[in-house]
Amino acid sequence: MNMRVIEPKSSIAVIGGGQLGRMFIQAAHRLGYDAGTLSPTADAPATHVASWVVVGPSDRQSSLAEIARKAKAVSVEFENVSAAGLRWLARRGVVVRPGWRTLWISQNRLREKTFLAEHGVPTAPWRQVHNQAELDLAVRELGLPLILKTADSGYDGKGQVRIDAGNQAKAAWESLQQAPCVAEGFVEFAAEISVVTARGADGKSVAYPPALNRHRNHILDSTMMPAPVGPIVCQEAQQLALGIAQSLENVGVLTVEFFLTSSGDLIVNELAPRPHNSGHLTIESAVTDQFEQQVRALCGLPLGGSTLVQPAAMVNLLGDLWSNGEPRWADALALDPGVRLHLYGKQTAVPGRKMGHLTVLDPIAETALDRATAARAVLLGRKS
Ligand code: AMP
Repeated sequence: MNMRVIEPKSSIAVIGGGQLGRMFIQAAHRLGYDAGTLSPTADAPATHVASWVVVGPSDRQSSLAEIARKAKAVSVEFENVSAAGLRWLARRGVVVRPGWRTLWISQNRLREKTFLAEHGVPTAPWRQVHNQAELDLAVRELGLPLILKTADSGYDGKGQVRIDAGNQAKAAWESLQQAPCVAEGFVEFAAEISVVTARGADGKSVAYPPALNRHRNHILDSTMMPAPVGPIVCQEAQQLALGIAQSLENVGVLTVEFFLTSSGDLIVNELAPRPHNSGHLTIESAVTDQFEQQVRALCGLPLGGSTLVQPAAMVNLLGDLWSNGEPRWADALALDPGVRLHLYGKQTAVPGRKMGHLTVLDPIAETALDRATAARAVLLGRKS
């Protein structure tokens, strides 16, 4: 394992220009790094705060060559980065974390599910679907309802359809362009939780307390940390997540999303080899936030503590909030001085697009969520 320390003041980079890249760069700057981005567009959120910007796709060799010239170490802010590109960077002596293998596994649901099965990690029952016969078999063996998900490039519920009746299966798969898919048995979950972990170059790792996540239209709507799940489930979720990070031999931040059933069983839904929307509240609530952990792991520094200084909640601000023009930020902040506003600097508000978030700390996590929700309601022009 590469134990080289990339000292503060060095130049490092993140591949991707979105809000996760932006918050990575902000954390890197706090630690004294010179941090840049390889961004697909010149005005993406990360470009506004980066020390330097290379504009181009993550799989173009000339862009990667420029990154290799400028940065000693490179991380990513989304999983669909070219694994071959990362391997190319690593071969040129750039420290790349997460490594290409972690990315390669987690960017394809079939590879990810196979990896989890090989390591005895509980998931929903699943079957691969490459042709009509496999789809028919999946329906017979898994039963209904089931969820059909494209193996590649799905996020926020995109690239997936629910099948409730056998005669819907063919049309459902056609709606996904008959792409290679995973068919998953439907999990009657009681809650969705996630655990953000970080693993250092020395193999030491930390896990934040599980977060309770609520979704709306398949997009994360709110997070509360710690999740009110009790100490046994909490420990089990953290151990499962840390075990996965170790099995992947991943260095960096890795988030594990779980379904929690009413009988207390944990089922892994998916992995994200990066900071996660459910970990944004660690910026204010944890001893060390998830983005700083990403920088520390990347640069071979010791990881920071992952304990919470206070419970917290986060609510996402989606583009829908802009339907009547720019939201009245001052009104929401006036409601509660404990509300922290994060805007990602995106120019165009589109319904469903993540534009920012609000975080509130409170001794009681549920109260933090109520306060954050109340502040967002002001932005919506509603009372609650
Ligand atoms: P994903 O993109 O796989 O994270 O799925 C998005 C959301 O769809 C999840 O957060 C769940 O709310 C729901 N979902 C996904 N897979 C299943 C499943 N097998 N059973 C029930 N709900 C699911």
